Amino acid sequence: MPFRLIRLIRYATSGGPRWGIVEGDVVREILGDPFGQWTAGAVAGKLAELTLLPPAAPTKILCVGRNYPAHAAEHGAEVPAEPFLFFKPPSALIGPNASIVLPPQSERVEYEAELAVVIGRRCRWVRAEEAWAYVLGVTCANDVTARDLQRRDGQWTRAKGFDTFCPVGPWVVVGVSEEEMADRAVICRVNGEVRQHGRTSQMVFSPAALIAYASSVMTLEPGDLILTGTPAGVGPLHEGDVVEVEVEGIGVLRNFVACPS
Ligand code: MG
Repeated sequence: MPFRLIRLIRYATSGGPRWGIVEGDVVREILGDPFGQWTAGAVAGKLAELTLLPPAAPTKILCVGRNYPAHAAEHGAEVPAEPFLFFKPPSALIGPNASIVLPPQSERVEYEAELAVVIGRRCRWVRAEEAWAYVLGVTCANDVTARDLQRRDGQWTRAKGFDTFCPVGPWVVVGVSEEEMADRAVICRVNGEVRQHGRTSQMVFSPAALIAYASSVMTLEPGDLILTGTPAGVGPLHEGDVVEVEVEGIGVLRNFVACPS
């Protein structure tokens, strides 16, 4: 990872969530507004010893379906002429190292490795050419999906919306340019085995195009997340699996898979 990149995390404290900046193997607390003016304060602890939270607290999580032609093809679907948007609820968010809980209503829960964009400034009706100016940074996400319910329901609210179905993290990388993100690997590993290996250059609609399209519909707020779609190779998760989403040069998001306790 280039040295200049800034990694922001959210972590749990007895006083509630806090923002921090990663420096080597330690985290300094952020004083001020991570979406505005801030400075790095005292060391909060070692990165490995803090409980990491999703690195955003969005008002909404926007996702896009069928944004990689090879993934659309594996479901027998056409690539849409316009972005195919849907929501996941913020209640689905979990952070790194937390467990994806398999719901009893589904017999087929699948991973979807995705690049996610964190909105940095409120925007409406932005053009794609200026959209990146409204981005705080990028992170990794897993658009966990109950595939059987997605097919059965005819719309995706339940299949995509269970609690724990939106792992995000481990941090937001700030300061990366649109050009630098244009051709990064997006990888999913289950128990160390590579299951998906696409590249952001294969997207039908770029992150900037997705921001422009979404912002023509609704106001995007600081912290809102846009999940940019998954490459080919989706498949099932089972109790006890360890699932990792890696975006090249950004980070690795690791989560566990569990049954309800
Ligand atoms: Mg997806």
